[in-house]
Amino acid sequence: MSDILVRRDDDTIEIADLTSDEEKIVKAFKEHIALMLKDDWYITVKFAAVEEDYGMETEAKPEYRKAIITVDIAQIKDQWEYLNHFIRHELLHIIVWNFFDIAGTLAYKNTSKAMEKLEEQVIYLLEHMPLWDNLYKGDINK
Ligand SMILES: [Zn+2]
Repeated sequence: MSDILVRRDDDTIEIADLTSDEEKIVKAFKEHIALMLKDDWYITVKFAAVEEDYGMETEAKPEYRKAIITVDIAQIKDQWEYLNHFIRHELLHIIVWNFFDIAGTLAYKNTSKAMEKLEEQVIYLLEHMPLWDNLYKGDINK
């Protein structure tokens, strides 16, 4: 299973020091990463506040196979049953990153907003594919 770095704000934390909620989230990330990304990626899960009400936020550098996913536990806690969807959603952002990043840069200002909307729509469709029910056996509520 792929190894990931875990941080709380800007400090690296050892797996042994995770809270039980953090541990569940990290486990679900590892299981999804194993299904969705090649093992040459360096993924960091960072527990910190995320602005607005997204719950999670991703920043990727595909050229270095690096991505940081910020997870706001306070926001996730109200929507625990959607955790797997949130994780899929953020990992899909990594996969489509270059395409929408370049398209957004090339686009005129108002087109750039439309590209963001399109990215979210594409990811929504991928995230809700029926195949996930057969593929992913992990369950956060176990
Ligand atoms: Zn999104």
